[in-house]
Amino acid sequence: MPFSALSHLDCPRCGARHDPDQVHGTCSCGSPLLARYDLGRVQASPRDIAARPADLWRYHELLPVREAGHVVSLGEGMTPLLALPKLGRALGVPNLLMKDESLIPTGTFKARGAAVGVSRAAELGVSAIAMPTNGNAGAAWSVYAARAGMRSLIAMPVGAPAVTRAECAAAGAELYLVDGLIGDAGKLIAAAVAQRPGYQDVSTLREPYRIEGKKTMGLEIAEQLGWRLPAVIVYPTGGGVGIIGIYKALRELLDLGWVSGDLPRLVAVQSTGCAPIVRAFEAGAAASEPWPDAKTVAFGITVPNALGDFLILEALYATGGTAVAVTDESLLADQRAAARLEGSFICPEGAACVTAVRQLRESGWLSEADEVVVLNTGAGLIYPDTVPAGAPVLAPSGSIPAGPGQPGG
Ligand SMILES: *Cc1c(COP(=O)(O)O)cnc(C)c1O
Ligand SMILES: [Zn+2]
Repeated sequence: MPFSALSHLDCPRCGARHDPDQVHGTCSCGSPLLARYDLGRVQASPRDIAARPADLWRYHELLPVREAGHVVSLGEGMTPLLALPKLGRALGVPNLLMKDESLIPTGTFKARGAAVGVSRAAELGVSAIAMPTNGNAGAAWSVYAARAGMRSLIAMPVGAPAVTRAECAAAGAELYLVDGLIGDAGKLIAAAVAQRPGYQDVSTLREPYRIEGKKTMGLEIAEQLGWRLPAVIVYPTGGGVGIIGIYKALRELLDLGWVSGDLPRLVAVQSTGCAPIVRAFEAGAAASEPWPDAKTVAFGITVPNALGDFLILEALYATGGTAVAVTDESLLADQRAAARLEGSFICPEGAACVTAVRQLRESGWLSEADEVVVLNTGAGLIYPDTVPAGAPVLAPSGSIPAGPGQPGG
């Protein structure tokens, strides 16, 4: 049995098929390409999977890397699926679970896309990758590129989380800061790649394999629930790779017969400061319009114009899902609520999902009985400035009050 059941690349817009063993960007029609597998050739069973190491490569038949020796790994995957009983009760959704990506290398789920994308690029002979990023993807791709012995060229907005710059620099990336948004960084990268032979543009959905890494979140949720699907999955949506990937993964599991029944209703969460998918969903549209003057503290979801917009919207419509916008103020309040009630310091993007659950329960879209999985896509530690942490400064000769003072200083 082959290590990977990869069969071809498929264009979800024009239907063209492409040879997966050549390096590809988008389809000639401009659409992202999706990897397809010969699922009939997969002989492994859920039982076999359970006996494999606890990382995302346990699903190797459903991943595009052809040879085990080409896997570039830092141990990513099989993050916890945590129950959040106190926060869930406070929100009126007692069966609330969180897939916690803060424990993964680089501190965000971007490591999944980078591990699979870099491994496959290296397998196909690519020697340098280039990408625009809101920070987290650049950090992840530069460390995996370093491990693979590849060069990396990264451009990110000056406003991106500072620690992600440090991670790129430490890993030896060629790093540029752009006084603009991710779209501006994308144009600079595309122009540079055109002049640099051997560099592959691995921008969001401009190569087919990042999504394959991110889809493993969906595979893991199903496995961790005992090959059962939750009622609802709530995802902080920027470029949408995660939500498109989760949808793709769950459909592959249905085709394999490893799960059955209805797919979970998928929820795309955005910020009121950048909500192109929410606006398109509310209009019943098949594609989105670029969002002007995008701005939110949930930096990873500041994507005004997603290449895969039509795929995100299709996943929402097909599963009876929805799209919700939340304010920075409310997501920051829920970031603290999650830490105080559950001890989990989640990232602002993850906190946006908690606020979305609150809003959807209030509107009646969610019921008390629903089993809801929120994605915490990264560690709160990456965004230290989102929580004010004033505390009294004491002289060595000073004293601490005999009883408890104010929490948080
Ligand atoms: C990139 C990112 C997102 C958005 O992911 P997409 O798959 O592009 O929609 C969400 N949260 C964090 C922390 C991110 O870095
Ligand atoms: Zn096409």
